[in-house]
Amino acid sequence: MPIALNPSIYCVAAIHLGALWIDIGLINLQGQVFVHTRHNRTTTSPETIVDFIAEQITKSVVQYERILLAVSITLNAQVNSKQSVVIGHNMFDWHGVPLGLLLEQKLKVRAIVDTNVYAMALAEYTYHHPLSTNDSLLLVNIGSTIGMGLVVDSDIVRGSTGLAGFLEHSPWQDSGPMCSCGLRGCMTSVLSDRALLEEVRRMRPQSKFSSIESIIELSSSDAGLREILYYRAAKVGELLAMLASIYNPAHLVLSGSVTLTEYFDKVKESFTRHKGDMDIETPTSEPGIPFPLLGAGIVGLGAVFSPDLLLNPGKLNSYAEISFMPTLVPQYETD
Ligand SMILES: [Zn+2]
Repeated sequence: MPIALNPSIYCVAAIHLGALWIDIGLINLQGQVFVHTRHNRTTTSPETIVDFIAEQITKSVVQYERILLAVSITLNAQVNSKQSVVIGHNMFDWHGVPLGLLLEQKLKVRAIVDTNVYAMALAEYTYHHPLSTNDSLLLVNIGSTIGMGLVVDSDIVRGSTGLAGFLEHSPWQDSGPMCSCGLRGCMTSVLSDRALLEEVRRMRPQSKFSSIESIIELSSSDAGLREILYYRAAKVGELLAMLASIYNPAHLVLSGSVTLTEYFDKVKESFTRHKGDMDIETPTSEPGIPFPLLGAGIVGLGAVFSPDLLLNPGKLNSYAEISFMPTLVPQYETD
């Protein structure tokens, strides 16, 4: 018997812990983010971050009179997703941080922690559902670093230590710039937003570029900047062609600043030269909602639905294997 979910009672809190800021949102049972706030990240202390997040979520849940079912947080880190522990996060210098437990203690609901690019790939896979068993989805994200998520049969491919798809220090260009890891020409030191920003700052030391967006904006009237962006776009196209040949996914999705404006056409041009039999897609995100936040929300929803209501029915995803925690009793009842 077809039934409808009432989306306006329960919600899941979604958090994306980024390099510069923290995005916090609430997502309803239909997968819509109905509130979103962005905050500067001023500390790397896990306890301070968790306190801040818990305070913001509590405020929103009370304001919107919802019942919080779970909280899901994603970040660019190696994660043990079953235990919700951050194994390693270089930028924050986190090692073995029980982020899930800290959030559960504060919010009294189940907390899920995952790698951001995996969550983004799962969100896209959910959007494209149903995909048949062998129809995998590959998402490549080019931002301040470079990563990919491969979803096969409703499951993310995590690798033996949770590092599958961390492409940043893969060798890419022998003669490339020095990377923060001490080697030369790693993928992140050639193709990432950060690398591009550094190159432009080297080239124009007198200019003050603060973000990749400002470079893209100025490039419309600056041939030098345009050339740098074109070059990167062509190289990203080559990378995608290589990955598409290795994995032969049903869907290839690219996210990040390289999908903006005319530079996405350059990516596609270069990609098609090497791999003419498929298209590059861009993420299906709601306008104004950061895609990584949506990814976190979808992962959280996947964890609260019973197996029969899973967003990706069929093989259970890794979150569904964990049974509901006794602390799931709603804390914010509003009569
Ligand atoms: Zn490196």
